[in-house]
Amino acid sequence: MDFEVSEKMRTVIELMDEFVEKELIPLEPEFLRRPFREMLSVLGEKRRMVKQMELWAPQHPQKYGGMGLNLMEFALVSESLGRTPLGHYVFGAQAPDAGNIEILHLYGTEKQKKEYLKPLVAGEIRSCFSMTEVEMPGSNPVMLETTAVKDGDDYVINGQKWYTSSADGAAFAIVMAVTNPEAPPYLRASMLIVPADTPGFNRVRNIPVMGHEGSDWSSHAEILYQSCRVPQKNLLGPEGHGFVIAQERLGPGRIHHCMRWIGICNRAYALMCSRALNRVIEPGKKLSDMQVIQSWIAECGADIQAARLMVLHAAWKMHTLGTKEAREEISLIKFFSAEVLQKVVDRALQVHGGLGMTDDTILAFFFRHERAARIYDGVDEVHKLSFARRVLREYQGKRVK
Ligand SMILES: Cc1cc2nc3c(=O)[nH]c(=O)nc-3n(C[C@H](O)[C@H](O)[C@H](O)COP(=O)(O)OP(=O)(O)OC[C@H]3O[C@@H](n4cnc5c(N)ncnc54)[C@H](O)[C@@H]3O)c2cc1C
Repeated sequence: MDFEVSEKMRTVIELMDEFVEKELIPLEPEFLRRPFREMLSVLGEKRRMVKQMELWAPQHPQKYGGMGLNLMEFALVSESLGRTPLGHYVFGAQAPDAGNIEILHLYGTEKQKKEYLKPLVAGEIRSCFSMTEVEMPGSNPVMLETTAVKDGDDYVINGQKWYTSSADGAAFAIVMAVTNPEAPPYLRASMLIVPADTPGFNRVRNIPVMGHEGSDWSSHAEILYQSCRVPQKNLLGPEGHGFVIAQERLGPGRIHHCMRWIGICNRAYALMCSRALNRVIEPGKKLSDMQVIQSWIAECGADIQAARLMVLHAAWKMHTLGTKEAREEISLIKFFSAEVLQKVVDRALQVHGGLGMTDDTILAFFFRHERAARIYDGVDEVHKLSFARRVLREYQGKRVK
C-alpha cells in the first residue's frame, strides 16, 4: 500500500494552499457581509490569477482548458480548496458546473460541447442542475412529475423544481424530466439542456436557506417550467437514460464533496486548536489545558483521519475499477464524512463559545451551510439503507459460527 503523493501533486497542493491562505481567506469577512453578486469583480480578478498560474479547472480535460487531473489527484485538490467557501469557485472547480461538465464531456454532441461545455470550462458562463421537485421526494428520484413531451421538433417541459443550485445568473440548466412514462422506472426520465432565457423557464425565487437567500452562484432557486420549449437536439445522451447519466454525475461528485468537507474539517480543526491554545479561562490556565477539550481534539483528529482515508480509498477504487465497483465505498463515505463534518464544525464552534456564533470567524457559516451535507447527494439514510441491504444479502442463508 503506497500513501506517497507524487512530486507534481505536492507542488500543485502547495501552490493552492498558499493561494487559499494569501488571496482567499482574507476575502472571507467581505464574503460573509456582502451578497455574492457584489463579489464577482474581485473574484474574477482572483480567477485570472489562477489561470495565469495554470491551476484553472483542475479536474477538467486539458483539451478544454483544464488541468486534466485524475480523480485521486483531484481529491487532494478538493481538500485544499475546501478550506474556504471561495476555493472551488475561484479555481473553476465548483458544483454544480463540475458535474455538468463531466456529463457534457461524456454524453454531449459536438455541437453541445462547443456551445455549452467549452465556455463552461473556461468559466465564461455558469450552469445549474434541475432535478429535485417541490412535491416529490428527492430521496426517491424516480418519482418525478416534470414532463418533457415531444411536439414537432421540440420537447415541451412542464414542472416545478426547487433547490436548483446556482440557477440565479446561470446560462443554462440541465433538466431531468419524464419523456418515456411507460418505460420501467429507471428508464423514464431524460436530461435536457434548457437555456435560461427560454420562454417558460421561470425562476420564481431564490429559496431562503438557513436564513439566507443568497445570490448568483451562491444560491438555490425554485423554478417553474411552463410550456418551456426546447429543440429535440437539446437532449443530452439517449432518451430515457437520465438516471444512468445521473449516476455517472454523482459518483465523482461525491469524492469532490467529501474531500471538500475534509478541507472544511481541517480548517475548523486548526481554528479549534488555535483558539484552545490562546483562550485563558482562569488565571494560569488555557482551554487547551482542559481534558475535555484535549479529548475533543484527539477524537476529531481520529475522525478526520478516518474519513480522509476512506474517501481517498473510494477515489482510488473508482479510479481503478470504475464507479459501479465502488458503490459500497461511495455510500459509506457519503454519510460518514457528512457526520464527521458536522461533529468537527460543531466542536470547533463550541470551543469558540459566543465568538463561534458570530460571523467573526468562518465557523458559523460552515455550521449553517454544511448542515445540508446530510441531505444532498443522496440523503444519509438512503445510503445507509442501500449499504446495509447489500451487506445483508451476502449473509442471507448463511449461519455464521
Ligand atoms: C443545499 C442543497 C443544495 C441542493 N442542490 C440541488 C441541485 O443543485 N439540484 C437538485 O436537483 N437538487 C438539489 N438539492 C436537493 C436534494 O437533492 C434533495 O433535497 C434530496 O435529494 C432530498 O430530497 P427531499 O428534500 O425531497 O427530501 P425527502 O425525499 O422528502 O426526504 C426527507 C427525509 O426523509 C428521510 N428519508 C428519505 N428516504 C428515506 C428512506 N428510504 N429511509 C429512511 N429515511 C428516509 C431522510 O431523513 C430525508 O432527509 C439540494 C439540496 C440542498 C439542501
